[in-house]
Amino acid sequence: MEKRKFKKKKSFGDKGEERGLPVRKKACRFCVDKELRIDYKDAKALRPYISEGEKITPSRISGLCSYHQRRVTEAIKRARILGIVSFSPVQKALI
Ligand SMILES: [Zn+2]
Repeated sequence: MEKRKFKKKKSFGDKGEERGLPVRKKACRFCVDKELRIDYKDAKALRPYISEGEKITPSRISGLCSYHQRRVTEAIKRARILGIVSFSPVQKALI
């Protein structure tokens, strides 16, 4: 049988292994610690999930699973409506 002419393309960057980087899976904080609760009334607890520009940090940075990322997002949005967390940096400066 004839050998295949084209080699399968190597995929880069999907695991980081090929670039010699160690692969480490981020564990979701809320999944690891069952005692932790997501509370929309607790602005301090939500702070790590809000960036400098008052944006909600994406899960690839926050390291949360999709389920908890959705919960945190909902909590931040609720807190914004209540006025606990600001919508924008401009609004933050006014408070
Ligand atoms: Zn989780």
